[in-house]
Amino acid sequence: MIRLSQDLRRRGKKIVTYNGSFDLMHVGHIKSLQEAKRQGDVLLVFVNSDESVRSYKGPHRPVVGQIERAELVAGIEGVDKVAIFNDQTVVNILSKIKPQVHCNGSDWGKNCIEREVVEKNGGTIHVLGWEKNFSTSKLIKRIIDTYAKPTIKAIFLDRDGTINDNGEGYIHRKEDFVFLPSVIEALRHLSVTDYKIVIVTNQSGIGRGRYTVKDFNCLTAWMINTLKKKGVRIDKVYHCPHTPDEDCECRKPRIGMFLQAVTELGVSLNDSWLIGDDDRDVIAGRNANIKTIKLGGPMPKELKLEPNHYAKSMIEAVKRILG
Ligand SMILES: [Zn+2]
Repeated sequence: MIRLSQDLRRRGKKIVTYNGSFDLMHVGHIKSLQEAKRQGDVLLVFVNSDESVRSYKGPHRPVVGQIERAELVAGIEGVDKVAIFNDQTVVNILSKIKPQVHCNGSDWGKNCIEREVVEKNGGTIHVLGWEKNFSTSKLIKRIIDTYAKPTIKAIFLDRDGTINDNGEGYIHRKEDFVFLPSVIEALRHLSVTDYKIVIVTNQSGIGRGRYTVKDFNCLTAWMINTLKKKGVRIDKVYHCPHTPDEDCECRKPRIGMFLQAVTELGVSLNDSWLIGDDDRDVIAGRNANIKTIKLGGPMPKELKLEPNHYAKSMIEAVKRILG
């Protein structure tokens, strides 16, 4: 590299140097290298060795080894030559290369450690204008935030006909609310797992004026409390108060209530299940990319749509999910 720089200088070429660890290449690196190239004729890049990166970033860095990092840098248009260096700084190298321009990130600025040696040999420091938004540390943090957290899964449960006997329909008083066989036992099993337990229920009786939101909320509070006393955890209840004519986004088989669970609870839908007795539950599950278990009878043939499983009871459904 030293001989190359001597040769370039003899041929009147303007030499630009730049250095960095280039760990996990991102667009900030590319922009910096391109800007560096624009400062002269030939761009020489020095990549910190693994040992050198470790010495100032700690034992977990670099993520990518030095050969691959150097190859990636070499592959970028405008980069003419790449070398790996072992020191903490490039001062020693620059004293021999004697670049006309040495580029530096804005976080170090003009008064960087290389300034003295570069200016002594008639060169200048160019501070790159790349934004601080690009950084490998930020990239790593984003990856961890996105992928290293446990997935939040939910069991979505329909209410009427699934948790309680639907009776004459429009159930809104605790006197009429009868838990179906095996529901409490099954939900108790679910309550000791990581699954969020979320009830999603169409309550068009509210929109039809058969009962009020207050009635619904009272019954819900009673239901949650009754289940709690029996060791069952209900994490959330979503309801759609609209009639079919209102054409809302929340009434199943539409998926508004499921999307709410994504936003509010962070649920991953395709890791979740929906248990329901109605065709609309199965269609909603399909629409929301949730696996479904249908209780009760088969799906109408004309729908040409099947749930992932059928079950005769809630306990059978839950056992199917928990394996
Ligand atoms: Zn609705």
